[in-house]
Parts: sequence; C-alpha cells; structure tokens
Amino acid sequence: MTRHTQIGKTGLFVNPIGLGTNAVGGHNLYPNLNEETGKELVQAAIHHGVNFIDTAFIYGPGRSEEIVGEVIKETGKRSDIILATKGAHKCVGQDVVFDNSPAFLKQTVEESLKRLQTDYIDLFYIHFPDNDTPKDEAVGALKQLKDEGKIRAIGVSNFSIDQLIEANKDGYVDVYQGEYNLLQRSAEKVLLPYTVEQNISFIPYFPLAAGILAGKYNKDRVFNDLRSKMPHLQGEEFVQNLDKVEKLRKLANEKQTDVAHVVLAWYVTRDSIDVVIPGAKRAEQVVSNLRTLDVHLTADEIQEIDRIFQ
Ligand code: NAP
Repeated sequence: MTRHTQIGKTGLFVNPIGLGTNAVGGHNLYPNLNEETGKELVQAAIHHGVNFIDTAFIYGPGRSEEIVGEVIKETGKRSDIILATKGAHKCVGQDVVFDNSPAFLKQTVEESLKRLQTDYIDLFYIHFPDNDTPKDEAVGALKQLKDEGKIRAIGVSNFSIDQLIEANKDGYVDVYQGEYNLLQRSAEKVLLPYTVEQNISFIPYFPLAAGILAGKYNKDRVFNDLRSKMPHLQGEEFVQNLDKVEKLRKLANEKQTDVAHVVLAWYVTRDSIDVVIPGAKRAEQVVSNLRTLDVHLTADEIQEIDRIFQ
C-alpha cells in the first residue's frame, strides 16, 4: 500500500517518491539514450506505484513528453497519474529563448497537451523566467488556464526570490521547483523559508546531485554528458563530495539501506518538501528508489546528515 501525500495546497495527492524524466527521451541532455529503456523505466515506475511524473518540453525537445504520454496512455491509468510538465523555451530558428508572455504560455500548454495525449496537465510550471514579462501577468495566464480546466496547479521554476514574490502577488503559485540537494543548499537562505511561509510546495531538482548522491561514483568516473560541466563533479570538489558520501554510507549501512534512499528520505523531512523527483536511467533505479518509503530517520540522524553536508 503506497502512502500518498498532498502537494502543498494543490489538492493533488502523490506518492512522495516521484520520477524525473529528463533522461527519458532527453537526447539533447544525455547522448546515446535508448528510448525503449526510457519507456521501460516509466512503465516500471507506474507499475510499482509511482504516480507523480515530472517532464518538460525542453527534454528532447518534446520527446520526453511524447514518451511519457505514450506510456501513460498504454497503461490506461491517466486518472491515477499526477503529470507535471514545464514550458517557456521558444524555438526561434536555431536559437532557443525564454518566453513567459501569456500568449506563448497558452500556446506551449496546448502543444504539451498534444504531445502528452491528454486534455489536462496536473501541474504546469513556467520552466525559466524571461527578462520582459511581469511575473504576476505570466502566472495570471496560468490562472486562466487553471480556471478553464487545462491545468490543475501552477508552478514556477528557476525563479529568483524576487521573481517568485512577484509571481505570487495574488497567491496563485502552488509549487516552486528549484535546485536543492545536500551538496547545493543555497535555497535554504531565502527560497525555502518563503515557500514555507506561503504554503508553496518546494520540489527539489537534482535531488541526487545528478547521481553522486546515489553513492556509486568514484574519483575515476568520467562524465560525457551535461554532468561534464558541473563543478561539483570535477577535480578537488568532486573528491571532497565523494568523502561526504562515504560518511553517509556508514549511516546507510547501519540502517541496512542505500545512500540514495537516506538522501531522498532526508528531503521529505524538510518543511515545504512534500515529494521528490529523482531521475533514472534504468527501471531498476526507479524500483530501488521506492525503498526510500521504508526509511525512517530519527531526529538525531536528520541532524547528523545535516552536519555531514554543512
Ligand atoms: P538526479 O535526480 O539528481 O540524479 C539522477 C541520476 O542519478 C540518474 O539519472 C542516475 O544516473 C542516478 N540514479 C538515480 N537513482 C539511482 C539509484 N537508485 N542507484 C544508482 N544511481 C541512481 O538528477 P536529474 O534526473 O537531472 O534531476 C531529477 C529531475 O529533476 C529530472 O529528471 C527533471 O525531471 C528535473 N529537473 C528539473 C530542472 C529544472 O530546471 N526545473 C533541472 C534539472 C532537473 P546514472 O545512472 O547516470 O548514474
């Protein structure tokens, strides 16, 4: 029996272990992705009780949404799934620019609906801020789409605190998605406290810090995808981060579980974090991450993890 939790004030109930799908059809992010493997991992997720799936137009672009939509359709379980997607990237010739204008947001939602083969999106995010659109106007456009039943909840992602405050002027923002993990904790300064105060659910992306917090990399690991440009996976910083992971492994071993599961369990002890969306490359990883639901951290363990990664 899967435990379900409400995402903030949305009325959407989810298994707190969701699935991030930027490696499902995300050919522009990870070279040599196999689409069958991507399909299988989404199928496995749904089969094993994951009901919150996170995608975005730009993963592919478009291909992740198409694969996720196809799998959900095949399962016949659309009404059991809480489907989140994002838009703001506009292709102009060879360039991709951010556009938060009401007209573009409405257009991109329509296009996502088609790729996802559905007539509603449970949670739609503005993926990145643009430079021009007042953020309350952008969110106002999403509120109209919500009133029309095309989306059920409103999210923003990668907004600064000032942009988030502006976006939430009328109290319409339900979810904020931002980078947050045990190795990148800057959201703790102002973003997380603001979301707690405003009853906005905070969904951390890169919860496994792009894989290192799953505890299986060593210093010889070479990355040939978007991770090759991430400072926390290079040089001395990578070595220091691996040391922290080793300290955490001791705790995970004592609890007879994996590093990834302790990490994911820690996030959902934070105020305003209701659900996590670890990504995966293979079905086994998805199934493994569900074991997080069996991990119970004591107050002392929560503090110890905090201390290791301070
Ligand atoms: P992540 O969740 O931090 O790391 C995922 C990677 O960790 C997997 O691809 C896999 O990589 C490894 N992994 C996962 N579970 C594992 C397990 N049980 N055992 C061993 N390794 C495991 O990074 P992410 O997928 O990039 O981020 C999560 C989701 O957040 C994305 O899928 C996407 O939906 C969302 N996101 C949003 C934004 C935004 O701008 N809003 C930005 C980034 C991501 P390997 O097998 O290659 O090691």
